[in-house]
Amino acid sequence: MIKAQRGTKDIFGEEAIIWQWIFENAKNVFQNANFTEIKTPIFEATELFNRGVGDSTDIVNKEMYTFSVGGVEKNETSITLRPENTAGVVRSFIEHNLNRQSPPQKFWYFGPMFRYERPQAGRQRQFYQAGVELFGIKEPTADAEVILTAVNFLKTLGLNNLKVELNTLGCPKCKNSYKQSIKKVLAPYLKDLCDDCKMRYEKNPLRILDCKNENCKIIFEKEEIKNVILKDYVCEECSEHFKELKNYLDELNIDYSVNKMLVRGLDYYNRTVFEIKSDALGSQSAVCGGGRYDGLVEMLGGAPTPAVGFAMGVERLYALVQKKATKKLDFFVVSDNSKEALKLTQKLRLKEKSAEFDFQKRKFSKQLEKASKTAKYAIILGEDELSNNFFSVKNLSTGEQNTIKNFDELLNL
Ligand code: ATP
Ligand code: MG
Repeated sequence: MIKAQRGTKDIFGEEAIIWQWIFENAKNVFQNANFTEIKTPIFEATELFNRGVGDSTDIVNKEMYTFSVGGVEKNETSITLRPENTAGVVRSFIEHNLNRQSPPQKFWYFGPMFRYERPQAGRQRQFYQAGVELFGIKEPTADAEVILTAVNFLKTLGLNNLKVELNTLGCPKCKNSYKQSIKKVLAPYLKDLCDDCKMRYEKNPLRILDCKNENCKIIFEKEEIKNVILKDYVCEECSEHFKELKNYLDELNIDYSVNKMLVRGLDYYNRTVFEIKSDALGSQSAVCGGGRYDGLVEMLGGAPTPAVGFAMGVERLYALVQKKATKKLDFFVVSDNSKEALKLTQKLRLKEKSAEFDFQKRKFSKQLEKASKTAKYAIILGEDELSNNFFSVKNLSTGEQNTIKNFDELLNL
């Protein structure tokens, strides 16, 4: 039998319905915020990612699906399945002179990305991202707009408790002085860093802070290194930009924290970087990553254009909403008296408990079977219970059954 490739997945049935719902919410939130859809090709010239994502990144160094087409005689070209979508959107923006429209130019996308990574929970080789890119505005209003759009989208999925982490990397000038300080303080530890970090030390030392290697993480905890990381090295202008952004978020009651270790994996970020995380996802905790990339459009051959955007991992969103979707009901009322069952269910719901009953007066064994699949507790209302005014309550995870005399006690279970 031919099977799907490692790290890829078929989506159908219940899962497809939830995916559709995630897509509809993304589309509605993005369009309400005046972003318009952009669909770019799934493959691009390899050079676009080498330059646009950066050749000191894990993506370009290890994770790209790159192949040659055409053969030597037909001008062989190297193409790559897109590992992310910012580079493609920027290419399109430049190619079609989209900067001719008055700024901001706002785009959203939803589609598959490809990275050759070790598959594990929350990490696939083909995965989906939903994202936005906003061009033409250097003011922090744009950073705020992008973060708000991400948070609003998560809210529509019922995800209210995710953590927004923020940092500022400063402009290329601040970034450079930070790089030098990091290099200096890390120099004595260079031999203890992992091989990737040794390479990053030369090519892009800030990325060292993004390392997931446990040994490297221990080194970052050292007092003298922490001091350099925590020091404010951004210039006045960048610091003002960051302050204004934080003010906007405060005004809008967005809960965030500043994480000075946050540098993000891609080379092109400057000033604001942010991630949105969930504790429920284990080690692959980031559902969203984004930031400002003012230099990228120019670097790829366009006119200088400030820009900011984010990308969300849809599989990780799915894992979170699925946990919600499979949340068990508080109660299932088992009874062959539909009127009493309906009344009790209603009473529980009015007390903010989720409850369901059997619509067809089926055999108790069938009702209990349904209850144990869908609820935490079964409340049994048989003849004895109804005539003697009590409830038999079965804890469906332990199987333990108890008698409860009054309704209020049910609410405390
Ligand atoms: P990570 O540190 O988890 O590898 P990243 O920095 O490589 O993330 P980005 O390039 O910022 O990720 O992508 C944005 C989002 O896309 C991530 O926050 C995550 O939710 C999702 N994502 C990235 N890589 C994968 C993958 N291989 N499988 C599933 N989702 C992914
Ligand atoms: Mg990654």
